[in-house]
Amino acid sequence: MYKRDTLVDRLIALGYLKTPAVIEAMREVKREFFLPPDFERYAYADSPLPIGGEQTISAPHMVAIMCEAAELSEGQSVLEIGAGSGYHACVTAHITKTMIYSVERLAELAHSAKANLNRAGCRNVRVIVGDGTEGYEKEAPYDRVIVTAGAPDIPQPLLEQLKVGGKLLIPVGSRYSQELTRITKVEGDIEIEELGGCVFVPLIGKYGWPG
Ligand code: SAH
Repeated sequence: MYKRDTLVDRLIALGYLKTPAVIEAMREVKREFFLPPDFERYAYADSPLPIGGEQTISAPHMVAIMCEAAELSEGQSVLEIGAGSGYHACVTAHITKTMIYSVERLAELAHSAKANLNRAGCRNVRVIVGDGTEGYEKEAPYDRVIVTAGAPDIPQPLLEQLKVGGKLLIPVGSRYSQELTRITKVEGDIEIEELGGCVFVPLIGKYGWPG
């Protein structure tokens, strides 16, 4: 049995993974393709790892929690903010089977994310360099917006670029700890749910933290 299957089985046993499409995606995507060579051997440890530029690839259980909480399904349009290594976007793309747009603030990471996605044979993720707190107007509106960095508040452009009935998943809180927050856009209003504590690197930008 591969180490990846052992990790996925554990995430199922712990209750993080529930939905068949999410489980299948996490069984399929090879996390080692998204890590610097020195860290490849830790690919199936359930922990965040450094990817350069003082950033980290999220722990597998956090990717599982977010994919489940986002209620992803085939055919959805998805915007991710914080491409980082490209791993989370690749898992998402496996589930939706659509083109995923992923904005990354650091050009060097966007560059390596593209290389990682190529290595993994993932063709339906487009990485864009920019300030994701402003969203990505060009492909809006989205069914899902998934932010993988911690914000001080909900960036207004991300709400604007969401479809009615769409969901925004974002860690909101201080620089060092946040609450994973799910916002559902309803006609003329939003519904906010707090899903639990988490720790992400800061979301830096016009509607985020100062750099
Ligand atoms: N989803 C990633 C996790 C990346 S960590 C993965 O699977 O590897 C968060 C990323 O958000 C970092 O790469 C950081 O540079 C990026 N980031 C921070 N602020 C941002 C912003 N305003 N717009 C886009 N990316 C941002």
